[in-house]
Amino acid sequence: MMQESNTASLTKNCVVTGGAGFIGSHLVERLLSDGHLVTVLDNFSTGRRKNLQEHSRLKIREVDIAEYEQISEFFVNVDWVFHLAALADIVPSIEHPLRYHRSNVDGTVSVLEAARQAGVRRFIYAASSSCYGLATEFPTPESAPIRAEYPYALTKYLAECCVMHWNQVYKLPCLSLRLINVYGPRARTTGSYGAVFGVFLAQKLAGRPYTVVGDGNQTRDFTYVSDVVDAFVQAAKSELTGEIFNVGSGRTYSINKLIELLGGEKIHIPKRPGEPECTYACISKISEALGWQPRVGFVEGVAKMLEHIDDWREAPVWDEASIDIATRQWFEHLGEKKDSRRPPEPGLCSVTTGAEAKDR
Ligand code: UDP
Repeated sequence: MMQESNTASLTKNCVVTGGAGFIGSHLVERLLSDGHLVTVLDNFSTGRRKNLQEHSRLKIREVDIAEYEQISEFFVNVDWVFHLAALADIVPSIEHPLRYHRSNVDGTVSVLEAARQAGVRRFIYAASSSCYGLATEFPTPESAPIRAEYPYALTKYLAECCVMHWNQVYKLPCLSLRLINVYGPRARTTGSYGAVFGVFLAQKLAGRPYTVVGDGNQTRDFTYVSDVVDAFVQAAKSELTGEIFNVGSGRTYSINKLIELLGGEKIHIPKRPGEPECTYACISKISEALGWQPRVGFVEGVAKMLEHIDDWREAPVWDEASIDIATRQWFEHLGEKKDSRRPPEPGLCSVTTGAEAKDR
């Protein structure tokens, strides 16, 4: 693992885009507790002010990252940039592809350019393992084929290509972390139907049955947020650049296992098109390069979620009927693919980046 230069100050001046969101707010807490200065850039479209506590070393600026003129001043004298601002969730991305492109791709280009013009020392991008689509190799390495299944996945991947491009052309010291099924306190930040923990915890609070998709035997690489935050900090401290790393739990767990840990009744709802049977990221590359390892196991992580269940008191309580309405567009647009376990074919965005090719 690379060490920081001895002459470098221990206190870093950091920018966290999307710092009021779920993962961003955990990262901000960690950076502050490590003694750093933090400026959060967030438009509060999905992030929440109450995710951030006031702190003497924290500045919060409400800006649109896609507007270069609004953000460039905040990158002057910055050491570390963590770029997490993005629109999330599958369904709204199918409904509003332009909105997703603007936030996730144009927004990233604007942040990259602000970081380059200011000469920042490190740029860490929160990429998404949704770029693998319906992977066939498990655990899935960074070199697996890219096959975005819906606009959210596509825009996060296109933005990753931009990050690598700014590294290649302008030598901006970038790393990209492909996150997978991240969970933790504050995980639900929007009203759209989305990540399973928010759905299930709100159902548990309301005494409603869990809506299990399919037979519940599908598995996910649930990764606890503090492990993801560790990966961001280690990536910033390292001197490696131009690399893409998976960040996962090193395991994969079924939805039925999650329900067993949460306890309670369940009902079954239809399988969604384009949804993988399994997500499971290979984490050898980041473990070897950065010495990073996940530390929070699933049983411990779910217990922590239950300790924080009050975070979901105001979250929408989904049921079979409301999920049916919310996912209608999903079925309409992706529904021609009847078997979600089919092997992936070469697709629209079947691209291999230079950094990935090295792994082959
Ligand atoms: N899931 C479920 N019921 C729900 C929402 C999700 O059983 O109401 C399952 C879903 O089938 C998937 C897992 O939970 O296997 C994780 O779903 P999420 O949308 O959080 O992540 P993704 O499918 O994008 O990996």
